[in-house]
Amino acid sequence: MEKAAQLYEGKAKKVFATNDPDLCIVSYKDDATAFNGLKKGTIVGKGVVNNRMTNMMMRLLEKKGVPTHFVEELSERDTVVKKVSIVPLEVIIRNVSAGSFAKRYGVEEGIVFDEPTIEFSYKNDDLGDPLINDYHAIALKLATKDEIELIKKYAFKVNDALKEYFLSLGVKLIDFKLEFGKTSDGAIVLADEISPDTCRFWDVKTNEKLDKDRFRRDLGGVEDAYKEIFARVTKGE
Ligand code: UDP
Repeated sequence: MEKAAQLYEGKAKKVFATNDPDLCIVSYKDDATAFNGLKKGTIVGKGVVNNRMTNMMMRLLEKKGVPTHFVEELSERDTVVKKVSIVPLEVIIRNVSAGSFAKRYGVEEGIVFDEPTIEFSYKNDDLGDPLINDYHAIALKLATKDEIELIKKYAFKVNDALKEYFLSLGVKLIDFKLEFGKTSDGAIVLADEISPDTCRFWDVKTNEKLDKDRFRRDLGGVEDAYKEIFARVTKGE
């Protein structure tokens, strides 16, 4: 499968058309942004880690019964995926307080929740991806009620599977962001990526951060954190 015209360039990935109208090729870059694009940088090797790690997670989730857009890994940075129209919602699941949750509610990071939480943000850079509830998302026709119910069901299933998987690698899954898409036949599938860019991972023993917070917060050791989490996921391959 070959890349045809570039359809889109995002913050961390490029998307290309192919000779099949139902398939695209995603190409992962080393570019990193944070705070809605205000902070920019490069994380050397990130594209390779995020591509390969995402594909491993997508395969695992397919086995657990979550449909995904994944088709085939082409190379270190390139993957064939089903062409979808992205549902403009960021779906965030949290197991432990961190980031914007801790800030919004004035609590410390690291509070373990009895039950995971779910929230949605409206994917809209001009508005700064505001928090949105189900009713507003339906009113704005971002998705139907049934689609939102299905997305919630899949998101919690993803959490169950990934929480268990990462714990087996000595990693706590603190929170993560998912995106879903709709295929040409109307099916809702998990899309985008599952990587240290989109998840918070803390080492079980030391609570060391093994994710993009090292970049966001200038903690240093950014590349090493991506390497470390990648080494753990590839060890059992
Ligand atoms: N997240 C993401 N993209 C975004 C916002 C959040 O991938 O545009 C991920 C982030 O990496 C974290 C989770 O979603 O794992 C929750 O992020 P939070 O709402 O705490 O926002 P942040 O503190 O990252 O601004």
